[in-house]
Parts: sequence; C-alpha cells; structure tokens
Amino acid sequence: MRSNLIPDLDLAEHLFDVLRLRTFDGVGITREAYGPGERIAHAIVAAEAEALGLDVEPDFAGNLLMTMPGTDSSLPRVVIGSHLDSVPQGGNFDGAAGVLAGLAAVSGMRRAGFRATHDITVIAIRAEEGGAWFPTGFPGSRAALGTLPPAALDTKRLDSGRTLADHMAEEGFSPDAVRAGKSLLSPSGVAAYLELHIEQGPVLDTEQIPVGIVTGIPGSRRLRAARVLGEYNHSGATPRRFRRDAAIALAELASRLDDCWAELDAAGRSLVCTFCVLATAPEAGFTKIPGEARFQLDVRSVTPADVDAVYDRLHALVREIEARRGVRFELGDEAVAAPTPMHADVRAGLARAAATLGVPFMEMPSGGGHDAVAFAQAGVPAGMLFVRNQNGSHNPHEAMRPEDFAAATSVLMRWAAEMAK
Ligand SMILES: [Zn+2]
Repeated sequence: MRSNLIPDLDLAEHLFDVLRLRTFDGVGITREAYGPGERIAHAIVAAEAEALGLDVEPDFAGNLLMTMPGTDSSLPRVVIGSHLDSVPQGGNFDGAAGVLAGLAAVSGMRRAGFRATHDITVIAIRAEEGGAWFPTGFPGSRAALGTLPPAALDTKRLDSGRTLADHMAEEGFSPDAVRAGKSLLSPSGVAAYLELHIEQGPVLDTEQIPVGIVTGIPGSRRLRAARVLGEYNHSGATPRRFRRDAAIALAELASRLDDCWAELDAAGRSLVCTFCVLATAPEAGFTKIPGEARFQLDVRSVTPADVDAVYDRLHALVREIEARRGVRFELGDEAVAAPTPMHADVRAGLARAAATLGVPFMEMPSGGGHDAVAFAQAGVPAGMLFVRNQNGSHNPHEAMRPEDFAAATSVLMRWAAEMAK
C-alpha cells in the first residue's frame, strides 16, 4: 500500500509542547476533568483540527469529534482517540498521546492526498481519570456512545463535591441530553475504535520493544472494606497462646497470598495481586495487641480463572488462619468486573501494519482501564496500541521517546488507512 503515508510528527510535537506549557501546574501537568486544564487542552486541539480543515464538533458531553470526511459518509466511521484529562500533577503523555497520534495521522493523510472512503474521526474524550475526578467508569466515552447510565451523572467530583451533571453544564454542555442517551456516535455507526496510549508500566522498556498490541483489559475481583477481628489486649501481660492478634493474622494472609501470586507468576500466568491497604484500626496503640485490622485487595487479570485461583487460595487461607489464630475475617462486599478482550480483527490488522512497516511489537495485556473498554462493551470492535515509556505514569516524570511515538503512530496511521480505504 501507499508508502507516502507518513504521520505529521511535527504537528504532534508542537501540540505536546503547547499542552505542556499551558497545563503545567508548577510540579506536573494538571488537566482537571470538566475543569480549566481539560478545557484548555480541548481548545488547543480544536483550534489545530480547524486549521487542518477537519469537521470539528463537540458532542452533548463535551467530547470533541474531529472528522476527516470520507467519500461515503453513510459507511460506519473509523474512530481514533483517547482522553485529554490528567491526574493532578501528572504527566503530559497519558491520554494526550492518543489524541495527538490521531491528528498526526489524519494530517499525514491530508498531506499525502489520501482519500478515504469511510469518515475518520479523531476523538478527544472527557473525564477518563476516574481515580482523580469522577469515580465512575469512563463517563466521557460512554456518553459519546449514548451508553452512560443516567445515575453516573450524579457522581460527585472528588475535589469539588459537585456532580458530573453540574460540571458538564458549567462547561457549556448538556447533561439532560446525555441523561436521555443522546449522542453523535452510535455503536453501529463505528467500524472500529483504536486508542494509542503510553504503556504506563516497565514491560516494553525492559523488553526493548517500542510498541505493544494490547490483548485485553483485565477484569478484577476487589475487596474494598475487608476486616480481621481479634481481641484488644495488653501487649505485656498476654502470653502468646492467649492472643487473638488481628494484625499478625492479616500479615500472614498477605504474605501467603503473595506467595500464591509468586507461584502463578512463575508458572507464566499473567495477573496482579495487590493489598492496597493493610492497616490496624484507629483504636490501635502502643502496648495494645491489635484487635482489629483492615485491608483492601485488588486482583486483576485478563484471564478470570487466574483471578479465581487467587480467591480460592484466599478463602482457604482465611479458614486456616481463623482456626489457628482465633480471629475472624469479614471480607465484606466483593466488586467483580469482567475482562474486556480487544477485538481479534483489530489486533490482527495492527500486527499486519506493524509487520509491513518493520516496527517491532509484542502482544500484551493492559494494566489499567481505558476508554477502549467503553467502546468494546458497546459492541464496537476496539483495539489499543501501547507505546514504550519511561518512569511509569500519573507522575510528572512520565516520559516517552519521540521515535517510539513515531513508530506507534505510523502503525496507527497505516491501520486506519487500511480500515477507511
Ligand atoms: Zn490514560
């Protein structure tokens, strides 16, 4: 196919610079969802898309659709994008890389005189960083597809305490339309969705491979409010056999569950297991045996059986430790999320594009959640490309080499041209 399809990397580099300059907070990058930082980022990107001659239109929730029309707009469109919000004091690449890659690809197609049959829409999505702003799953992308449950609009932003609907209205958008399920995109009108994103982990950097093709986004089983109940007593006066020490019981559980993960890891199973909180209760104090301990557990994998294996061990350990240490575990409510596989056709198309271009790649699961989940769950064939990056993510030291971004964006561009031709 066309060898003159080269992404407009100067455009992306310029936009990364402007975004950094305009949303730097003195320590890192802050682009608040439905706040000043995200508003600035959307304005920067919209102005550039206008200059490229794209059809630029925000939807009811403020997602920005930037479309290069094809020769037959009745066909389902190809959508490329990611989010423009960031965590507080985060990095410049998480999210923005996917939007700028889309613009660089479309600009490159324009320059090469490439005429697509299908529309190609670059989308800048709102409010993806749920851990930082609105603690609900992908409100921007779900609103873009008309699949956001109305109750999600009542979710409160963690810093302001005000609802998503309030913040959306304040930015000039239409929460009532979103609540009614109105959207500019319909799942059946999208041929495929592709999201380029920095990896956020060390795998590609360690393997010295620039690009990852994502196999799926993990499912999880999580405990948010688990407890161990023992007995408070005098730390000097209570001999070992009379103790019901909740903290040591929890420490044993954590250590032995970690051993379980190590066994699975050594057997080549792909999962992560994290005790996010391990704590004694506020009543704990010096000279007291801890009578209560609390924990949160987060186990994730793209393979549900691997998550289940950890929980099977957890339940066996709980019974054993209860019997031996005289404590009681209360695991509380468990939150279960199914994994989201990336579409086989999209994965295969990306692999073909990378092979044709001679870009080294590996297939890998995602660590975190991404807007691609919302598209996949709506029935849109979805895929993700990871770009090698350094220093993780959600911090000011997040880094990505221009040549790695260029390699991944070339793959994205070739895939999109093939899809839209
Ligand atoms: Zn992100």
